[in-house]
Amino acid sequence: MPGVYLSYPFCAQKCTYCNFACGVAPALERDYVDALIAEISSHPWAWTPETVYLGGGTPSRLDTAALARILAAVPGAPWREATMEAAPGGITRELAEAWRRAGITRVSLGVQSFIERELRQTGRKHTAADVEREVGVLRAAGIGEINIDLIAGLPHQTAESWTESLAWVRRLAPAHVSVYLLEVDEDSRLGLEIIGQGTRLGAAAVPDEEAMASFYEQAVDELASQGIARYEISNFAQPGHESLHNLKYWQREPYAGFGSDAHGFDGVWRTQNVELPADYVARWREGRFPLAERTEARADERFLVGLRLDAGVAMSAVDWRTHAAAIERGLAAGALERAGERLRLTRRGVLVSNEILQEFLTTP
Ligand code: SF4
Repeated sequence: MPGVYLSYPFCAQKCTYCNFACGVAPALERDYVDALIAEISSHPWAWTPETVYLGGGTPSRLDTAALARILAAVPGAPWREATMEAAPGGITRELAEAWRRAGITRVSLGVQSFIERELRQTGRKHTAADVEREVGVLRAAGIGEINIDLIAGLPHQTAESWTESLAWVRRLAPAHVSVYLLEVDEDSRLGLEIIGQGTRLGAAAVPDEEAMASFYEQAVDELASQGIARYEISNFAQPGHESLHNLKYWQREPYAGFGSDAHGFDGVWRTQNVELPADYVARWREGRFPLAERTEARADERFLVGLRLDAGVAMSAVDWRTHAAAIERGLAAGALERAGERLRLTRRGVLVSNEILQEFLTTP
């Protein structure tokens, strides 16, 4: 089931912890839309997409006419799933209905936290009440597939405030929730402050690793009690509401990526466009393709992506033999388990997944 990823790397503000190649550049946005449509239109479609994912950045910033033009360039509508990432705090009924008419079936809300202090410290402008109202607006407009993104480990987060955020999830009952552990890259503003031991952005108030791990574990249990089960390390859904598009990444199905820094995979080759939006637009103005890199996919990446899934990876006899040492170490440490002919991370293994997955790259 092939898909399409569309990158819209513009935001209203730059969040303190963000290190994506996205930013605040209103002057560039109009040209970027034209460049994006040109790239989609020139693609030699070998298959018809069944899912679309519009990420960023903040694609909900797009004016609705531009969104409709972009989606009209993608073949295959109506798609089985068409997701748009959206920033809470400005979603009106009119906007949500225009998204629906353009083909959007699913909205991923970058909530991150329901706690005022945590939101303000990261630079986010919305409130918990905005999220509650806008979930209602989306549902009333016919967009029932809603994801809520949360981050465990934000500055000032405590066991109490995290419990409160999870209680909001229970109240709103979204079909899908993503929980990410805060990763502070040294290129982000928060990362620079941690290195410089500053206090303005809350660097000193970032919970330690142990606290983050306990927030994550609490989320797994609390969401399960709400009927929202983990199906991938960071992703949880009510049965039948898993993200069809994101499953492609972990099941190594093909997808085409458009826009700056967009990645694609045709089953053999992985591609990546130029990273910066300004370079992407410049290439378009010069009549050049935005492709920056094309590399053959590694054979062992099947483990890197597949082991992220709760279902684990189907193993062949050759797989068991080839990775015997890594598997043995993982089993002995209680981080991996065998489920018939599948190999999967245990609950403990999920918490140290980076190290475990790395083992499959460095062995045999
Ligand atoms: S975290 Fe999201 S909303 Fe914030 S700057 Fe980065 S891409 Fe934009």
